[in-house]
This record gives sequence, C-alpha cells and structure tokens, in this order.
Amino acid sequence: MDEILTKDLKVLDSLLQSALDEGLLYLNDIDNIPTSVEFEVLNGVDLPLTPQGGASALDEFKRRYRDLMISSSGPRYFGFVTGGATPAALMGDILATIYDQNTQTTKGHGDVSALLEFEAIRILLDFFDLPDDYLGGFVTGATMSNFTCLGVARQWLGRENGIDVAKTGVTGEFNVVSAVPHSSSIKALAMLGLGSSNIIKVDTIDPSREAIDIEKLEKAIKALDGQPFILISSGGTVNTVDFDDMQAIAELKRKYNFWWHIDAAFGGFAALSPKYAHLLEGWENADSITIDAHKWLNVPYENAFFFVKEKHKILQVETFQNSNAPYLGDPLENFNYLNFLPENSRRFRALPVWFTLKAYGKHGYREIVERNIELAQSLGDFIVNSEFFELLAPVRLNTVCFTLKDELDPHRTQAFLDAVNDGGKVFMTPTVYNDRKGIRAALVNWRTAEMDIRIVENEMLIAMNKIAALLF
Ligand SMILES: *Cc1c(COP(=O)(O)O)cnc(C)c1O
Repeated sequence: MDEILTKDLKVLDSLLQSALDEGLLYLNDIDNIPTSVEFEVLNGVDLPLTPQGGASALDEFKRRYRDLMISSSGPRYFGFVTGGATPAALMGDILATIYDQNTQTTKGHGDVSALLEFEAIRILLDFFDLPDDYLGGFVTGATMSNFTCLGVARQWLGRENGIDVAKTGVTGEFNVVSAVPHSSSIKALAMLGLGSSNIIKVDTIDPSREAIDIEKLEKAIKALDGQPFILISSGGTVNTVDFDDMQAIAELKRKYNFWWHIDAAFGGFAALSPKYAHLLEGWENADSITIDAHKWLNVPYENAFFFVKEKHKILQVETFQNSNAPYLGDPLENFNYLNFLPENSRRFRALPVWFTLKAYGKHGYREIVERNIELAQSLGDFIVNSEFFELLAPVRLNTVCFTLKDELDPHRTQAFLDAVNDGGKVFMTPTVYNDRKGIRAALVNWRTAEMDIRIVENEMLIAMNKIAALLF
C-alpha cells in the first residue's frame, strides 16, 4: 500500500475526528455564517507533486475554501426551496457514507441496506397518510423522481397504444396534460423523448392562481376523444404553493383513462398538518407521486423518493430493468432496485431518512411544517403592512412571493434583491409571476425561528435604504 495511505489508515480515528470537528465549527456557528459570499474563480490549481494525506488536504481546504461555505442549511436561506439537515438526519447520512453499502437487492448477500430502504418507504407512506398499495424508492432529487414516475407513465401510455416503449422507443402520440408543471417535469419529458414542448397546457382557475381549471381540464380530456394521456399535477407550485384540486382529479380519473402524476416535492408535507392536509385529499388515487427529502424533510442532499402504485410494478420493471430476468414476485423476496429506477449502483440514501423519521416522527415534523408556515405568514404580514413591498400572491403555505410597490422600473426589484442577498444574513431568489418581476422566500428549514423573521425584515429595510439612491 502507498506509504501515505498506510499512514492515514493508522490515524483514521483522528482524521475522521478532525473532519467532524471542522463540520461542527460550521454547524455551531451556522446562525452567523453568511448566506452568500463573494469569491474569485480559480484557475490552474494543480494536484500536489508530493501529496501529504488527508490532514494536509483538510488544511488546504480550510485555507482556501472553509470561509466560502455559505449557510445554505441555516435558518435564513430562503432561496429556491432549500432544506437543512436535522441532527438525526446528519447521523444517518454520516453513517451511510461510512457503511458505503451499494443499495440494490433485498435478497441481501450480507447487505440489508435495500431492506432498510423498503422499510423507510413503508414508514414514509404511513408518515404521509398514504395507502400501502404503493412501492417506492430513493433517487437524487425531485427531478429524478419526476423522471422515474414519468418514465413508468410513458411505458403505461405506450402499452395503452400497443407499444412497448422500453423496447422499441417512442413512436406515435404521447399526450401530456398539465397547467403549471415544474421546470423539472418539463426537463424529464425532454430526457424521456416525449418532448418538452408537447405539453397540452390547460388554463389555471384564473390568472392569479396556479391551480388547474378542472372544467377546462375536462374539456381538454374530451378533446382527446378517448386517447389515453398523462396528467402532471401540482401538489404545491414553487411560486405560490398552489395545489390542483386532488378530489376533482380523482373524480375525473374514475371517468377517463389517464396516468395521474403528482409533483408534491415539498407541498406533500401539508399532509402532516390537520390544518393543511385537505389540500392533498384525494392524492392517494394518483398513479405516481414525487416528494423531495432534501427539502422539507431536512435530510442532506441528494435525497428524494417516488411512490408508484404497486399494480404498475411490471411497467416499472420494463422501464428500468437492467438484468435479463427480473424477478417479479414478492418484492421482499428478491427485489432489486437496479431493475426499478434509473441508477444501478446507489448509496444508502434511505438511512438519513430512516434516522430522522425514527427520531422525530410525525409529531416533530408537523411542528416544523406548521412553524415554517406561521413564520411565512408573519413575513407576509410584514410585507402587507409595509410602505415598500406588496405580495404577488397570498401566502398559501410556506412561500412568500412579493415585489416592490409601484413597479415603475423592474430593475429596482433586482437591485433590492441584490442588496438583501449581499447583506449575507438572508438569501432569496428572483422569480416572475403574472408577468411581474418578483422575489420568492421559501421556508422549509427546521431551525427557522421567529427571531430570524425579525432579522430578515430588518435586512429588507436596510436594503431599501441602500437602494434609495437608485430610486430617487
Ligand atoms: C424543487 C422541486 C423540484 C426539483 O427538485 P430537485 O430536488 O431540485 O431535483 C421539482 N418539483 C418541485 C415542485 C420542486 O419544488
């Protein structure tokens, strides 16, 4: 063995401890670590001619990169939809890295990681109050979850038209219907060869909403004249967290032949609160559901899962099968994830999820979800009462979508956003809603507290002051 590698093996304990210590410095100071940093792009950095092992790699990292790590997993990073990592999720994730299992088959030749994945999926179904007639698995994010679900949907649609798409490729008509699909579903359609511009768009209830108009949806279905199709519906849109009417879609599913996919990447967590669970009522009839774990479940990246009705198991295996003779019997008998989803070799992604679910349960997550929503509403109230800002949409759940009053010059919105983000205490992202330039703040972090909202409000006022010169 290489000399330095041999040395590192001898001091493995202290090496791992030093990495953990470094991580703890970050975690214990996360409230003060900036939400954004300025840095210069580095070129021409070479590998060392005489490498010195893990300790020196850590030294170089500390010297060059430590201070550039932003607090994206902290309490005031409201950009995109960015979760954090609960203590137990971190424990599970660290162990997943250390055990380094290749999670594939439940047969388990010494590796039970796939069995634990099965268990985690069962627990999640219970967690979200979904029936147990779904199978599921873990992928890297909601984008891949949408891809997986829509991949099975594609196989279903092909079969309805007498084609085995997995074998012969995409030919003929593939009707996909949606109102406000997330960009990642559009990307998934592109990757699946279904075409990102082939979506049959249905209007929303009215221009100020992002939920599909059910009457117009039924009209669009009738216009298809009995052709089967895929419906992509929203269980929480990113701009305004609007939900399609799941009950009404479940009704339509009784009358018409379609594959119903729900993207509930973060909106699915509404199921945990009796106050908001009604938004999802009826979703248990969907053929497939996407939910992210690295958002509101607060598990480290890259973590998401999908649920597909067990009755579609054969279509799913047809789509993703890797070996020649996939076993289709009892999934617990000899199930192999490599025939069931895009990846072949896979990390032990279920472990952090399992840890955090066991540690905090429905009760703990209901508290996080309801607190995030209350805090979003509180930030919304500040905006409504402010002389500078206005909401672009009501705060329906955990996201505040707003802009500057009197949109005379849309550049002011960007200037304001830049000023807020440059302050390093809070991070938000730009959006466009109803043709107006706006800003989104999405709250899905377990740490966020009342105090953080007051800090954010103060930062927003400071930023208004900073751009005053631009305004007048
Ligand atoms: C975040 C998000 C996605 C994409 O998720 P990734 O985890 O970034 O792949 C898809 N749909 C919705 C509704 C989202 O919020």
